[in-house]
Formats: sequence, structure tokens, C-alpha cells
Amino acid sequence: MATDGVQVLEAEAGAAGPGCEAGAAGPGCEAGAAGLGCGEPGAGREAKAPSEAVSAEDSGLDHKCLFCKIGNEKEAVELLHLDDQFACFKDVRPGAPHHYLVVPRNHIGNCKTLKKEHVSTVEKMVEVGKSVLQQKGFSDLADVRLGFHWPPFCSMAHLHLHVLAPASRMGFLSRMVYKSNSYWFITVDQLIERLKSLPGDSKS
Ligand SMILES: [Zn+2]
Ligand SMILES: [Zn+2]
Repeated sequence: MATDGVQVLEAEAGAAGPGCEAGAAGPGCEAGAAGLGCGEPGAGREAKAPSEAVSAEDSGLDHKCLFCKIGNEKEAVELLHLDDQFACFKDVRPGAPHHYLVVPRNHIGNCKTLKKEHVSTVEKMVEVGKSVLQQKGFSDLADVRLGFHWPPFCSMAHLHLHVLAPASRMGFLSRMVYKSNSYWFITVDQLIERLKSLPGDSKS
């Protein structure tokens, strides 16, 4: 008879429209105006000279992609980590006290388009995320949420890992938006399992 929480949760989930598309609902990675989360790359942000006709000198980069630009130091964003393959920076709308995004510096599409050979890429992204957490003084790696928004629940095409901690201190809405094993958010473990189960590229 008691109204248990389950129904409430479901109702709220619908209303909030969990995922990057959360829009007005807030702490999704739909950065919108701010243009820094994984949302719309903020039109208007780009007011540079029309130099993109100059051809793809840095191949592997999409000049219109915000995360490509951030990962290659073309945006004034504080990078918490940068190596030859990956960059890490704060999510503009933190869903937890620590909320970082790890992106490959070259343009790789969203998690749904990954193939078996990307397992090591995902694993390396996780390592970067964990090292940034430690660098920020957070060491309880059991209390971390690591995962990706599953299309179409994210409008940002560039692959990005969400690193949230402590998971136990995420607010209600964040728990929905970054809900483990929901149909809109896939944890790294789940994604790696999925990638490993894909048929491999037999040649090469
Ligand atoms: Zn990109
Ligand atoms: Zn996202």
C-alpha cells in the first residue's frame, strides 16, 4: 500500500528527460549556452576568421567540434590532463563534487560507434579519469561513476567519458542522468563488455 519510491522515480525520470538532452532540467551534459559540457557546442562561441577552408592540416580533427578544439588547446579551457592522446577538463555543469570529461584528442565518434579495437582506448580514458581524481585529492575509487551517454541521449558526437565522484553524493537528478546501466547511460564496464563481444576485425 505504501507508495514506494519506484514509481516516483520513473515518473521523475520521464519528466526530467534524463541524459545529455536534459536541457532545462539541468545537470545533464547539455551545456547549452555555456558550451562546455557535451551539449551543443554553443553556436556563437566560434567567432574566428573563416580559416577552416585551409584544409585539414591536422587530420583527425573536426574543426567544428568543440571537444576537438578543447583537446588541442584551441579553447581557453583549463586542462587537468593532457597527453598525446587524451585531454581531461571539468564538466561545465558538474553533477557531483568532482565531474570531469575525458576526451580523445582526435575525433572519435560516440560510444555506440566504437568497435572492438577501441577497448584499450576506453581503458586508457578510464585511467586518465582516475589519475585526475587522484590529482584532485579524491582517492576512493570505489565511489566513482564512470560512463558514457548512449545515443541519442547526447548531442555531442565526440567521444567523452564522464567521471563523477563521489557517486554517493550525487544529487537526485544527477543520479538519474548518470544512472548506471540505464538505457541512456552506459558504464565503462558495460561498454567494454559490449565491445569485447562485438565481432572483431578479422583482417589486419
Ligand atoms: Zn571532435
Ligand atoms: Zn555526455
